[in-house]
Amino acid sequence: MSACLFCAIAAGEVAADRVHEDDEVVAFRDINPQAPTHILVIPREHLVSVAELTTEHDGLWARMLHVVQQLARNEGLEGNGFRVVANSGADGGQTVAHLHLHLLGGRSMTWPPG
Ligand code: 5GP
Ligand code: ZN
Repeated sequence: MSACLFCAIAAGEVAADRVHEDDEVVAFRDINPQAPTHILVIPREHLVSVAELTTEHDGLWARMLHVVQQLARNEGLEGNGFRVVANSGADGGQTVAHLHLHLLGGRSMTWPPG
């Protein structure tokens, strides 16, 4: 079993409601949804956060965003819009130390965030 929760989900060792997977990226519904649509998009590679990205990850990062875009379309969020969030580190409110994008939609969001 992977020590990292999201590595374990990517490997299929921990169950999740998956909505996308390919050779580099996995997406699944958040266990504690903060909006009608709340999906997490993660790389299979263990990277802690945006702070760890290098130019070597440019392709991976672009793929993650394209998956977000495709899922937003699938969830019917294109018309009204949606939010994409990458919490990074303690002040960013990150609680799982494996890079992930939150795709949130289906309700109106407020700004600034808490
Ligand atoms: P963060 O706070 O790190 O930006 O986001 C971590 C997210 O992972 C949270 O929204 C939390 O609800 C979600 N999460 C934590 N554990 C699990 C789990 O076991 N399964 C799923 N599907 N989501 C999880
Ligand atoms: Zn991991």
